[in-house]
Amino acid sequence: MKKILLALASTFIAGAAYAKTCDVAIEGSDSMAYNKKTIEATGCTELKITLKHSGKLPKAAMGHNLVITSDADMKKTLDGAMKAGPAKDYAPGADGVIAATKLVGGGESDTITVSTSKFKKGTKYKFFCTFPGHSALMNGDIKL
Ligand code: ZN
Repeated sequence: MKKILLALASTFIAGAAYAKTCDVAIEGSDSMAYNKKTIEATGCTELKITLKHSGKLPKAAMGHNLVITSDADMKKTLDGAMKAGPAKDYAPGADGVIAATKLVGGGESDTITVSTSKFKKGTKYKFFCTFPGHSALMNGDIKL
């Protein structure tokens, strides 16, 4: 019994020592670009991602969000966002979406928290903007 408790205690301590929230600050601009091509998740148990729109244009003209899916689910997520349309801020829907900020316009920002336990080893993950036409330029990789 004592051994089990010790094992539990050391697991807990190891777990606590391992918990690491990584702050990620990323900007989207009026020139339809993120200022990062990679989000580093290596060694993080949680990502705290803040998307800031560094431009001045309103979200109806140059809205940005940040959506995370597997590479394989990116296309269907973009299709879902197109169906949602401007009335729903090109919301990416739930199927395959790991995390998503809201759509922001110039000067606005949104913060989300993502547990890295949602990422499977060996799978490629992308972050991108679901505003129509943006994802070709506004996309990047999650580095696990
Ligand atoms: Zn955008």
